[in-house]
Amino acid sequence: MVLAPARVDLPALKAAHPLGDVVEASGVALRAGGRVRQGVCPFHDEAEGSFTVYADSQRYYCFGCGAGGDVLDYLQRREGLSLPTAVERLAGAPAAAGTPAGPPATPFRPSAGTGQPRRDPAALRAAARHYAGALRRSGAAQDYLRSRGIDPDAAGRLGLGYAPGSGRGHCLPEALAAAGFSRGRLRGAGLLLAGGRERFAGMVVVPEIAHGRVTWLAGRAVAPGAAPRFQALPGPKPVLGLGRLGPTPPWAVVAEGLFDWLALAALGLPAVCALGTQGLGRVAAALRGCPRVVLAFDGDAAGRSAAAHLRALLGPRAAALPLPPGAGDVAELAARPGGRTAVLRGLAAALHTAGELRTTP
Ligand SMILES: [Zn+2]
Repeated sequence: MVLAPARVDLPALKAAHPLGDVVEASGVALRAGGRVRQGVCPFHDEAEGSFTVYADSQRYYCFGCGAGGDVLDYLQRREGLSLPTAVERLAGAPAAAGTPAGPPATPFRPSAGTGQPRRDPAALRAAARHYAGALRRSGAAQDYLRSRGIDPDAAGRLGLGYAPGSGRGHCLPEALAAAGFSRGRLRGAGLLLAGGRERFAGMVVVPEIAHGRVTWLAGRAVAPGAAPRFQALPGPKPVLGLGRLGPTPPWAVVAEGLFDWLALAALGLPAVCALGTQGLGRVAAALRGCPRVVLAFDGDAAGRSAAAHLRALLGPRAAALPLPPGAGDVAELAARPGGRTAVLRGLAAALHTAGELRTTP
C-alpha cells in the first residue's frame, strides 16, 4: 500500500507512533523513566548520551550535535528517507510498535562513577546556552564586561555567559533538569562542586568552542573582591580559542590571560590564549605551521619571561606585541579610550617584524 502524504492524517499517524518507541525500535537505547529520556545519539559520535526525547512535545533534541525534530524528522534522518517515504514507512508499521530496526546503535552507557570529572560536551553545551541566556538578562554582568571593553555584541559572538548561581529558575541544576540533565551528570561534567554549589556561580563564563561544540568553560568573578577570582573545569587546560582559528590561519596572536584573549577576540582577531605563563609547549605545538605569531604577554617579569620562552620555541616567525608605556597587558590597553587603535597599530608593527624576520634568515 502506497499512501500519498497529502491523504495521510499526520497528527493521528504521529499519535499512533510515540517518538520514544520509534527511536528504540531503530536501535537506540533510551534511559528509562519520566517525560524526558536520553540515549547515545545516533547522529554523531559520542558516548555521553546527549540525545534527548521529550514525551510531552514528542520531539527530540541532541545537546551534542544539535539535531532535533519530531518522529518524521527522526525517521528521515535516521534512515535517509524523504518525507513521503518516512510517512509511508510509519504508516506501514504496526501502531505503537515503531519501525523495522535500523543499524544497531551503541547501547547507552551511564557515566562511570570514577570521581574524575570527564568532558561531557552535551552538558557543557547546555550549560553554556543557559549561561548565555542569563548574561542577556543581567545588566550587572553586561556592565562588568563593558568595563573590560567587551560590548554585548562581542559577548554574543564569543558565546559568553553569566552564572547567577541562585534565584528561582536561575540556577543551573534547576534549569537543566528540564532538559534531562541530572545533578549527578552536571557534577560529573565538573559544573557543580562537591558541595552542590555551581562552580561558576557569580562569574562571567567563557566557553571554548571547537567545531561548534563546547569543550571547556572558564569563569571570572564579577563582584570585586570575590574569591576565587577565576575558575575553570578540572582537567587539562585547552589552548583557548584554537577551535575558532580555522585550519590554516595566516597569523595568530597568543594572549596570556583570559581577558587579554577576550579583548583580542572581541576585535575579531585570530587569537588564542595560553591561560597563564605555564605549559607553553602545548601552545607552540598548537601553532605548528602558523606562518606568523604575535606574542601578547603581560609587561611584568613573568609575562616577559614566558614570551621569551615561547619565542624560542616558535623561532623567527614570532614577534612580541609592543605595549605602550603604562599599559600592563592587552586587556588594560584595549579597555582604554583609543586602546583598540593602539592594539591594532601594535599588531601591524609586530606582524611586519615577524614577516621580515621570516623572509630574512
Ligand atoms: Zn547528536
